[in-house]
This record gives sequence, structure tokens and C-alpha cells, in this order.
Amino acid sequence: MLSLKNVVKTYKSGEVEVAALKNVSFDLPEKSISVILGPSGSGKSTLLNVIGGIDRPDHGMIKVMEREVSSYKEKELTEYRRELIGFIFQSYNLISTLTVGENVEVGSEISRDPLKVDEVLDRVGMLDKKHKFPHQLSGGEQQRTAIARALVKNPKVLLCDEPTGALDEDTGKKILRLLQEINKRYGTTVLIITHNQGFAEMADWVVKMKSGGLDSIFHNEAPVPAEQ
Ligand code: ADP
Ligand code: ADP
Repeated sequence: MLSLKNVVKTYKSGEVEVAALKNVSFDLPEKSISVILGPSGSGKSTLLNVIGGIDRPDHGMIKVMEREVSSYKEKELTEYRRELIGFIFQSYNLISTLTVGENVEVGSEISRDPLKVDEVLDRVGMLDKKHKFPHQLSGGEQQRTAIARALVKNPKVLLCDEPTGALDEDTGKKILRLLQEINKRYGTTVLIITHNQGFAEMADWVVKMKSGGLDSIFHNEAPVPAEQ
């Protein structure tokens, strides 16, 4: 279970305070795949960052698989991020001087219980490009590599912040399809921030954010697989 109770996060810049998360509570079951929708500035990234231990909430409780993450000190938080969480961003964040294989190796090295690099590259359809550099790849292929780097750690939770934001519609759907496959194959709990309303019907759960609060949460009885 992934559980949030009365989570509050305020950013201060000088005199100005911004309430990024006002009082957010919801539960998501383990091994589910969810999309997070909502307008720009509604708190989606902040939500992902406090769940993933990149950021800490000011108040409230965050529980991820029986771990009370919100009570963690910096050292425990680092451990938690390394062991349980995989992050994927819109901008891929690959290391440009390393090949595809070496980028994924980086993920493998920080995990205690990594999957095999080649298995994961095969899984995301990048094994034949193992020795290419990021600049030799399309956007879709760079994102596949970034997914492999996150996945090789064998994370329990995969947090994806606009993973298709820089891709065309078709490539984006293929990435979503890949995330669905990972969710099924490894039982990874997947959370995806997206602007694509069409992705809502493909998730088990749809979380809608509005001005730092939870607008609604909806369970899809029969999620649709993304088109190939
Ligand atoms: P979304 O992902 O839905 O666009 P964010 O979580 O990025 O929303 O931002 C929520 C609010 O918090 C916005 O008003 C944003 O400007 C503010 N915010 C986010 N991160 C910071 C930060 N590091 N410092 C100051 N304000 C921030
Ligand atoms: P995808 O659907 O996976 O994003 P594309 O259809 O965009 O792939 O790209 C097809 C092929 O073209 C890829 O195998 C990739 O090697 C090559 N390619 C695409 N964009 C670039 C680029 N900017 N530089 C070099 N090769 C590219």
C-alpha cells in the first residue's frame, strides 16, 4: 500500500509562501499503475517528489509498503530512494558520455539487488543499441534507456514525471505500453504524471490534483492496454 495522510508541503522563496500540497490524503494499492492528472502548478511533481523521498513534507504521513517515509532522516531517505524507488523524467537525464549499457550499469551499481543489465535492456527493446551513445538515439529510445536505468535497480515503485512530455503521440503510447508491461511483469507500482487525458483509461487508478489538493481519485475496473 502507498498511503498519504494530510500531507502538506509549502515552499518559501523569500517572503512568499507557496502551498504546493495543502492537505492531501489517498491510498493506492501495491502493484497498481496510476496516472496523476491536473493543471500546471497543481502539485503533481511535488507529490511525486515527497513520495520518492526527493523532498520532505512539512506535515502529514507518507507510508510506502509499511515504511513510514515521512519520518525518515536524510540517511534513511537516501537508502529508501536507492533501494525502493525508480525515477523517470521528461528530459531522460542520461549521461551523454556513457553508452546505453553504461548508463544502465550506473543504475545497477547503486542497487543491492539489481536485475541483469542485458535482461532489462532486452525488456525495454534496447539490447541491440547497447553500445550507442544517447545522441545517436531517438527521443523514444532515450526514454527507453532511462526506464531501463530505473528498472535495473529492481525498484518497488516507479515514479514517472511526464515521461512522454517530449515525445510525439505514437512514441508516447509505446512508452506507456512499456510501463504497463513492467507493472505486469515485475509487479512494480507505477505512478505517471501526464497531460495526456487519454492515458486515464489505461491506468488502474486516476488521481486528479487541483491547486495543491486532491480533486478526485477514481478506480478503473477495466483499464485498456495502450496500443502497440
Ligand atoms: P505541477 O507538477 O502540477 O506543475 P508542482 O508540484 O511543480 O506542480 O508545483 C506546485 C507549486 O509549487 C507551484 O506553484 C510551483 O511554482 C511551486 N513550487 C514547486 N517547486 C518549488 C520550489 N522548489 N520552490 C518554490 N516553489 C516551488
Ligand atoms: P522511436 O519511435 O523509438 O522514438 P523513431 O521512429 O523516432 O524511434 O526513430 C527511428 C530510428 O531513427 C531510431 O532507430 C534511431 O536510431 C534513429 N533516430 C531517430 N532520431 C535520431 C536522431 N536525432 N539522431 C540519430 N538517430 C536518430
